[in-house]
Amino acid sequence: MSETDVAIVGAGPVGLFAVFECGMLKMRTHVFDALDLPGGQCTALYPEKPIYDIPGYPRIESLALVEKLTEQAAPFDPVYHLGSPVTGLSRESGGFRLTTAAGVSVAAKAVVIAAGVGAFGPNRPPLPGIEAYEGKSVFYLVKRREDFRGKRVVIAGGGDSAVDWAISLAEVAGQVMVVHRRAKFRAAPESAARLEALAKSGAIELVIPYQLAGLEGEAGALSRVLVSDLDGKTRALEADCLLPFFGLSMNLGAIAEWGLNLDRNHITVEAATCATSVPGIFAIGDIATYPGKLKLILSGFSEAAMAAHAIYPLVHPGEALHFEYSTTKGVPGKG
Ligand SMILES: Cc1cc2nc3c(=O)[nH]c(=O)nc-3n(C[C@H](O)[C@H](O)[C@H](O)COP(=O)(O)OP(=O)(O)OC[C@H]3O[C@@H](n4cnc5c(N)ncnc54)[C@H](O)[C@@H]3O)c2cc1C
Repeated sequence: MSETDVAIVGAGPVGLFAVFECGMLKMRTHVFDALDLPGGQCTALYPEKPIYDIPGYPRIESLALVEKLTEQAAPFDPVYHLGSPVTGLSRESGGFRLTTAAGVSVAAKAVVIAAGVGAFGPNRPPLPGIEAYEGKSVFYLVKRREDFRGKRVVIAGGGDSAVDWAISLAEVAGQVMVVHRRAKFRAAPESAARLEALAKSGAIELVIPYQLAGLEGEAGALSRVLVSDLDGKTRALEADCLLPFFGLSMNLGAIAEWGLNLDRNHITVEAATCATSVPGIFAIGDIATYPGKLKLILSGFSEAAMAAHAIYPLVHPGEALHFEYSTTKGVPGKG
């Protein structure tokens, strides 16, 4: 059991920046995330895509932004609990207690929910024994393109992720096969056209209309992906990796049971403070809603600053907060 000033639920870009904002106001933080890595959607959904609307960065790759935010938070020594969905939140004297399924229990004076679209995970294809391959030769996201250099890659799905990654990996992989149960792809027309062109040139093989039917391999190392068409005709694709892109399942999970006012899976907050309907609990980033809300990383950054200022009197009761620029006070631990 440990205690902290502010518990942050969600280590997406907005949760990470909340560590910094709290730190600047002398508030210690613990940060929980269901995922094994910080960065939320940036890490899980589009790690190598450039973002163009982060102030001060005309262009920054998503993962690089997460690295910068983690670096910016580091001087405040946040305690990270990764791979740890918060399942319980209860009130106790002086604040709240947060618990995870794994038995971690942290007491906090205030809580910031920066849980994005809720805990999210990949939609898994229902293939017997797939768990044994996950993380070894079956991947639901591409962290580094280079990991697939020279490999025989089967991509399954017909949406933007499947098509974009097929095009991208065709540049490094030994072979790229795309399995889709329809002849047409749902991706952006430009990308779908590019895919067709790569298929015509032989750079990509389209396995359509087929769907995944099974996996063969040993000790988590895939050797063949079995596919079947609607008439039951089967094919075995020799492969080293399978990337199923069937979208994400997202749900608020336990957060929906914490007694907060919700509006269609979002937490309603006061725009000026990000306070929720429960005193001491604040919500920021994609999960928070108020009139005029823009679901952008930059709005979440501003909300993190507003929430930190609103939380200050809960953590430092009776201490006046003198507004200061970072240029005036600097960052603790940095020269
Ligand atoms: C393809 C794509 C491109 C985008 N491009 C841009 C762009 O160019 N510019 C821009 O501003 N925005 C863009 N966005 C949106 C941007 O990514 C989101 O606005 C941003 O990620 C929101 O940050 P967040 O920290 O609020 O939430 P998230 O990034 O969703 O992070 C929330 C975290 O909370 C965790 N979590 C949820 N529930 C729990 C729980 N119970 N316990 C523990 N952890 C939990 C989740 O695992 C997740 O890691 C894009 C989004 C996508 C999908």
